[in-house]
Amino acid sequence: MKPDLFEAPDYYNLDDLLSEEHKLVRDAARDWVKRDVSPIIEDAAQKAEFPKSIIGGLAEIGAFGPYIPEEYGGAGLDQISYGLIMQEIERGDSGVRSTASVQSSLVMYPIWKYGSEEQRQKYLPKLASGEWMGSFGLTEPDHGSNPGGMTTNFKDVGDHYLLNGAKLWISNSPFCDVAVVWAKNEEGRIHGLIVERGMEGFSTPETHNKWSLRASATGELIFQDVKVPKENLLPNKSGLGAPLGCLDSARYGIAWGAIGAAMDCYDTALRYAKERIQFGKPIGAFQLQQKKLAEMITEITKAQLLAFRLGQLKNEDKATSAQISMAKRNNVEIAIKIAREARQILGGMGITGEYSIMRHMMNLESVITYEGTHDIHLLITGLDITGLNAFK
Ligand SMILES: Cc1cc2nc3c(=O)[nH]c(=O)nc-3n(C[C@H](O)[C@H](O)[C@H](O)COP(=O)(O)OP(=O)(O)OC[C@H]3O[C@@H](n4cnc5c(N)ncnc54)[C@H](O)[C@@H]3O)c2cc1C
Repeated sequence: MKPDLFEAPDYYNLDDLLSEEHKLVRDAARDWVKRDVSPIIEDAAQKAEFPKSIIGGLAEIGAFGPYIPEEYGGAGLDQISYGLIMQEIERGDSGVRSTASVQSSLVMYPIWKYGSEEQRQKYLPKLASGEWMGSFGLTEPDHGSNPGGMTTNFKDVGDHYLLNGAKLWISNSPFCDVAVVWAKNEEGRIHGLIVERGMEGFSTPETHNKWSLRASATGELIFQDVKVPKENLLPNKSGLGAPLGCLDSARYGIAWGAIGAAMDCYDTALRYAKERIQFGKPIGAFQLQQKKLAEMITEITKAQLLAFRLGQLKNEDKATSAQISMAKRNNVEIAIKIAREARQILGGMGITGEYSIMRHMMNLESVITYEGTHDIHLLITGLDITGLNAFK
């Protein structure tokens, strides 16, 4: 892969709106991606391997639990810092950002928000340091966009619960130490359970042959009469709203992360367009290529402003789920469109691993589907503005 020459676009001087702390956090993540992610990521993606060597670095830049209080090992940062970290990581690779999102928003967040004090003390510091890695099991083979239909279930059998069922498409599953699993009790109510690797009847086979998020490990979580200790049930929230609360936090991070992928594609295409000579002049001098680049920076700038304002609302605890859906949907869509246009600007070179664009493009095909598909987020906006449910 070519050396990482990334220069972040900031067309509307968004940096002026950031605090010194935001910039320090962002720059530390940016430097780390340049130093430790860019040199190895293309190879990891080609081999379809999660690069475990980066776990320590992710912990160091605060990517595991950026907004979790320091007393539990988190970085104690605000929501804009969290977003900026996700942006920088996804600038490197969406698969690496996925690992961080799952650890922070889908594993640490529910333990912090819905867990007991004992659970927080036991799990959060180890997850923050990367000593333990987590996964989040909501999706099932027959229940994706409709997770409320899940069939994974647990029974109270006296001194423990007995868990049965299967989850599919689970990021980090093949190597996770703990899994936050959503399952129904005998009354059909959804609860979160913390399942640990090594529990009898619990297995995590890997899903192979992905053309997207190849540097992120994805797999199943299978439960066959797994004995889960009663103290592993998350006590403070149940019902579908509990996993959806985690998804809100992760989707917010994705809204920022997708900007990172878009910025990398734009920056690469802009540099290439200024250097590549055809018909005696740089291709960037042709109107058709300028149109692509001008539209890219316009969309990136709009996405940056959307994410920043959403971050302010999150900091004030005022962001609604529907506002988060809008930002996730818009920013992933613009990123995937920018990746496709940027790929064309590079001509044949655009399809190679010499440049990051094709990898971003393929990664974004997962990002537009997971954490609520593009369609589902549109339906959420539709429901919010009309009050009419078009899901069923
Ligand atoms: C790489 C990857 C990693 C993932 N990681 C995780 C993870 O860590 N944990 C986890 O729990 N899940 C994870 N997922 C699962 C992901 O969240 C689901 O794939 C997603 O929710 C969509 O579910 P589905 O694939 O079953 O598609 P389906 O729900 O079957 O949807 C198929 C199509 O139908 C459309 N559709 C569905 N319902 C409606 C409707 N009411 N109206 C109109 N259109 C509709 C959808 O928009 C989509 O286009 C991951 C997925 C991928 C690809």
